Amino acid sequence: MNRFQAKEEIKSDCRFCDYMSQSSNSPIDTPWMSSSKHSAFVSVGALIEGWSLVVPKKHIINLSSEYKSSEFWNFASETISAVQESYGRVTIFEHGAFKAESLTGCGTGHAHLHVVPLDFSLIEAAKEFNPDMKWEECCADEITEKSQGQEYLFVSEKPQRNSTNGYICRLKDETSQFFRRVIALKIGKPNEFDYKKFKMTEIANSSVETLTDYCWKKANSSRTA
Ligand SMILES: [Zn+2]
Ligand SMILES: [Zn+2]
Repeated sequence: MNRFQAKEEIKSDCRFCDYMSQSSNSPIDTPWMSSSKHSAFVSVGALIEGWSLVVPKKHIINLSSEYKSSEFWNFASETISAVQESYGRVTIFEHGAFKAESLTGCGTGHAHLHVVPLDFSLIEAAKEFNPDMKWEECCADEITEKSQGQEYLFVSEKPQRNSTNGYICRLKDETSQFFRRVIALKIGKPNEFDYKKFKMTEIANSSVETLTDYCWKKANSSRTA
């Protein structure tokens, strides 16, 4: 897709690198918005309409360095506004892995930010789900320091371009699909957390349609304004 992309920045056995380096026929594998360095997709296994992912085109393992980049936040803010204006208030989260085969990375070693419209507090729900996990207040751009080289979960209910405050949990063990389990339980579908078994194709396809339409309208209204 991006023919200026350096070879060493993409990885051949990576699902996201694949999506971004070749055009696909499936709407869910096609970004609904892209910049030169980032793409926004609808999440496979979207339990909730509008559930999207911000994915850097470069194959990196977590977003800790991206959180310090204004280019990343410009793109993330546009994604957040699109989802928010289409579906309501959003929460963002990341499960930051440090090695490709980690279970924490939800089956992909390629960094991505989850952008999910939620009408409940994800951090409160996470604490209820597992009271033993320790959460610490953290600004997104402090994650490199605060994670101390350990795998982490990060969540923010008020993402903002210049200072995204949230909570970080340093993980002692690799943790698979943690936030998906929390969200699935909270919306009354506890057994459908696993995106490998429940692809939620209908929700995902209708989300792609809505968000693509939103971008199209926005581009057209700025052209005629
Ligand atoms: Zn990749
Ligand atoms: Zn994920």
